[in-house]
Amino acid sequence: MTSLDDLPIRDDLRGKSPYGAPQQAVPVALNVNENTHPIPEAVAHDIVARVAAAILGLNRYPDREFTELRTALAGYLGHGLAPEQIWAANGSNEVLQHVLQAFGGPGRAALGFAPTYSMYSLLASGTGTAWIGAPRDADYELSPETAVSAVREHDPDVVLLCAPNNPTGTPLSLETIEAVADAANGIVVVDEAYHEFADEGTVSALSLLPGRPRLLVSRTMSKAFAFAGARVGYLAGDPAAIDALRLVRLPYHLSALTQAAALGALAHSGQMLAMVDEIRAQRERITTELARMGFRPYRSGSNFVLFGGVDDPHAVFAALLERGILIREIGLPGSLRVTAGTEAETTAFLEAIAVFAPVHAG
Ligand SMILES: *Cc1c(COP(=O)(O)O)cnc(C)c1O
Repeated sequence: MTSLDDLPIRDDLRGKSPYGAPQQAVPVALNVNENTHPIPEAVAHDIVARVAAAILGLNRYPDREFTELRTALAGYLGHGLAPEQIWAANGSNEVLQHVLQAFGGPGRAALGFAPTYSMYSLLASGTGTAWIGAPRDADYELSPETAVSAVREHDPDVVLLCAPNNPTGTPLSLETIEAVADAANGIVVVDEAYHEFADEGTVSALSLLPGRPRLLVSRTMSKAFAFAGARVGYLAGDPAAIDALRLVRLPYHLSALTQAAALGALAHSGQMLAMVDEIRAQRERITTELARMGFRPYRSGSNFVLFGGVDDPHAVFAALLERGILIREIGLPGSLRVTAGTEAETTAFLEAIAVFAPVHAG
């Protein structure tokens, strides 16, 4: 039987593993930070109508410039953004790949602050970009001083700031983002995949865009928008940076069906985001309850919680899976990550994990 080792694969890909969050059919799936609430039925009907209309035109290539979608995304983001400042692709993973294809590549380096989103190093490796995982402060926080000193030391071509950070949930201050943007010579991407879940008053890095043509802010419809299966991610930046991304995308990369579906969802953004407050409340409930049980939840500005104080993470993960509850082992010692689900899903998780609580209530 042929194995990967027998094929003339690129040397720099030898021995690498693909992204592999387990996909299992379980009653309670809290492992990949999806919005576990289905999209509202009225919105679904409008999306179906738009997709149906688009199907009649599938003999033609879609609008390569996805102008209507860029206009809708600019409207959703606000901050005075114009459609020429918007990019989109099949998930923000593809958006980030475009950024690395255009600004990274062989002989170049991308820097992030570990532990961070596992796709960054995989996208770097796929584009032949060297990956630098710089350290964080205690409790996975990232001060302006720590961040700037790594940027000065390595002078990377691309900096990837995850705000809030996955898998730790750690919010990232605007001060740190601004300090990095002003210290870096390369492109700085702020990945705001979870921005909609941030606490009230959190200011988006979009506010830092004016006057900073090397700063890019990416978002996704996969999380708060409950649209992970549609694969739509997007980015805002200077029109010149957007032009750079046009050089590396495949022509017609966003299908007419994707564009139609995304436009339908954006036309009802209020309804699509209606569950965000409820999810944030469940996140807070998880944090409070886990702390009460004696676990060590970290600060989260997202729809998930990383918690330490777990004696044997794999045993706990396996025991919960046995009960139909899938959470995430992320390879951090003594730690597990859980997504805030519906109230019932969250209750199921909290009841199952209570058995492993370091502190047993009298
Ligand atoms: C989930 C996630 C994304 C979203 O990826 P999509 O390709 O848009 O689904 C991006 N960045 C981070 C940090 C994430 O956790």
